[in-house]
Amino acid sequence: MARSVLQRDINESGKVPFTVSIPAVAMWEYHEPCQHLIRETAKWCESLTQSSSDACLFSDIMQMLPSNALEGCEGYSQKLESTHNIGLCPYASCAHHGRLCDIRKRADFDCSGLPCPDMSTAGKKLKRAGVTSQVYIAHGRYTTEMQTPLLLIECTPELDMGMVEDTHPDHDFYQLFSEPTDVGFRGLARSRTWVIGAHRQRTTCLYDPFQIQSTLSAAFRANVQAQVSDFLVASPSEIQMEASRVSLQRGIPFLSHEPNLAYLLGKGELSTKQGLDSKYMNLYQQHPMSNNNLVYFLGDSAAYCSWSASSQKIPTYRLNSKSGKYWLPAQQRWMTSKERLCSMGFPCVKEVAESMVCRCSAQLTLPGLQTCVGTRCTLRLVASCS
Ligand SMILES: [Zn+2]
Repeated sequence: MARSVLQRDINESGKVPFTVSIPAVAMWEYHEPCQHLIRETAKWCESLTQSSSDACLFSDIMQMLPSNALEGCEGYSQKLESTHNIGLCPYASCAHHGRLCDIRKRADFDCSGLPCPDMSTAGKKLKRAGVTSQVYIAHGRYTTEMQTPLLLIECTPELDMGMVEDTHPDHDFYQLFSEPTDVGFRGLARSRTWVIGAHRQRTTCLYDPFQIQSTLSAAFRANVQAQVSDFLVASPSEIQMEASRVSLQRGIPFLSHEPNLAYLLGKGELSTKQGLDSKYMNLYQQHPMSNNNLVYFLGDSAAYCSWSASSQKIPTYRLNSKSGKYWLPAQQRWMTSKERLCSMGFPCVKEVAESMVCRCSAQLTLPGLQTCVGTRCTLRLVASCS
């Protein structure tokens, strides 16, 4: 998406004597429901750049390796050894074209969100000993074989960089770290790392990426600071509709005239809410209802203190946040799906949609969209410059 905006802005600026065209040539997404989002994103990129890409959409990155490549391998080192210089499978099933397509794309730029469950503190921190190390091996094998000039790998800050270097031997890496506040979303916590991989023979670093990131973050911090209350964009009818859906799911009679939705919370959620209310009053000597930026995550117990009280940020969306409620004491309700998407930059309201040059995503009950809330889609996108 950033690449499309860049392409449009450069072409509209008239500052270069040629037309920039960076079409996507292939995308990988393991989870079928998330493929819907990938298609939507590709369409948005095409409308923004006024171009078409016809990119392939593949599913499992492991299909790049021969099916018996990891047979009998125990542990990371053996897997790495057995796939060293192994040939790629040339074809894979493509959901876009409905047939087997050639995966060997000569792309200039590869942008990948590689699996984080084995890295993060929320997981077991198995790192290279975890099962997802084979995805890094496949990715490294592909980008090494194709001599992809530029990589961008997104993951949690706990990413096993030693494994990334092992699996991508021909690239030099620059590891950047970011928080949403670096791009104006001060009200959300989500630490990420962005690793730039530059092929040793095919690229030259012209500008210090750390310096560029620092300059951009300073500009955003100075000009945009969206806080939790800025994300509360649901209308009264949208809030009631979501309450009605939850009442049906939980078998609790729906009370259309009751603005306080605490009656729809489960026993554990109520206990967490009450525990955090007490903690907040003890710590800050004020009632939680007086803080418009206060959010509790009710998917954890009160002992974990998953709240925005100290950081002023919505706790990081995790796998269990798909069903867990983010409670807003001042509003006496939870954040709706639309508001959570808004906090992540989705075009859920007209103003945001217009700034992104797209239609407002008013229909937020699409299965793919719901499934992806609170999780990180494993998106891999390969683009080529021409
Ligand atoms: Zn295809």
